[in-house]
Amino acid sequence: MRTLEDLDVEGKRVLVRVDFNVPLDHGRITDDARIKAALPTLKELREQGAAKLVLLAHLGRPKDREPEFSLKPAAERLSELLETEVALAPNLDDVPDVDVVMIENVRYEPGETKNDEELAKRYAALADVYVNDAFGAAHRAHASTEAVAHLLPSAAGRLLEREVATITGILEDPKRPLVAVVGGAKVTDKIGVLDAFLERADSVLIGGAMCFPFFAAQGHDVGASKCEEEGVEPAKRALESDKLRLPSDLVAGKDFSEDTEVRELDGVDVPDGWMGLDIGRDSAEAYAAVIAEAGTVFWNGPMGAFELEPFAAGTRRVAEAMAECEGTTVVGGGDSAAALAEFGLADRVDHLSTGGGASLELIEGKTLPGVEALS
Ligand code: ADP
Ligand code: MG
Repeated sequence: MRTLEDLDVEGKRVLVRVDFNVPLDHGRITDDARIKAALPTLKELREQGAAKLVLLAHLGRPKDREPEFSLKPAAERLSELLETEVALAPNLDDVPDVDVVMIENVRYEPGETKNDEELAKRYAALADVYVNDAFGAAHRAHASTEAVAHLLPSAAGRLLEREVATITGILEDPKRPLVAVVGGAKVTDKIGVLDAFLERADSVLIGGAMCFPFFAAQGHDVGASKCEEEGVEPAKRALESDKLRLPSDLVAGKDFSEDTEVRELDGVDVPDGWMGLDIGRDSAEAYAAVIAEAGTVFWNGPMGAFELEPFAAGTRRVAEAMAECEGTTVVGGGDSAAALAEFGLADRVDHLSTGGGASLELIEGKTLPGVEALS
């Protein structure tokens, strides 16, 4: 993959694809981590004498040009962080000639998600060279991440470079023991990752709703727990591995709510009408002990419904263990990152990936189109 060392930007107009797909609440940015993560590249380009920065980014999944998907809040936040005026161009035909300009949501353009060549040419016409720093969008072959990279001299920005290096480092040459902690809700999305770690890691710790297909496969009662049916067959296969660790106790609730009735279960059989919403105390301690001894830990997916205080303890314990671990600690996944931030531990891990889907695909061994285009 080409990096900024391979690209001459002095006096050039630089088209930069960034990942500013930030969470918004009524037009306010609730977490600006992705904008901050792009700053090193943007600053470096300016220091290296780039004549102009033209930024491309997407926000959400607009169907049309709905104003709630405008990048205006992101442009304003970037302006504050860069301490420079950042203009927002409403479309590709009205791009003001200023030092830093962001083009409105690329997904307002119908050709963007189709990797449309004509649209890519219109992007390319705005600059002399192209830099992709949008790791979170690198698993998509879109006009602003893939097609355009072939039309200009191109390279990866520092964030994309670091994300790829960190995750490939874990897979290819980890300090051992390598521990993977896999939880969360989207079980079927994570089966590939689970398989990859069962092959490479020394221990794989399972938490969150990810547990229940395993417990179902073992013949336990799962009650009303969230248990994806498609996960049960892959779980059966994974159970054959001696690296796999499942919780030995659970915290259950009657409903998915903060003020529901709560029960600490001694084992992992969930009674009828109850749902398992967190790993239990013994399990959390056992997982923390494995993490403490790790040379490298990769964590994706919370251990329970951490958004609800009665079910946050398992995730908090794992987050604390990550923070205290002397090995290399890497976290991927939007909700896992949100959990760390909520516990005030976000800066206590070595690498907090900005790309959930992209980091999982990289771990599964897939090539990312946005990365491939820079190779
Ligand atoms: P990430 O974004 O880190 O990849 P996911 O999106 O897969 O993680 O999962 C996060 C969600 O999983 C959280 O909203 C959390 O409430 C939910 N979750 C975790 N454990 C359970 C559980 N036992 N039952 C239901 N939902 C759960
Ligand atoms: Mg998520």
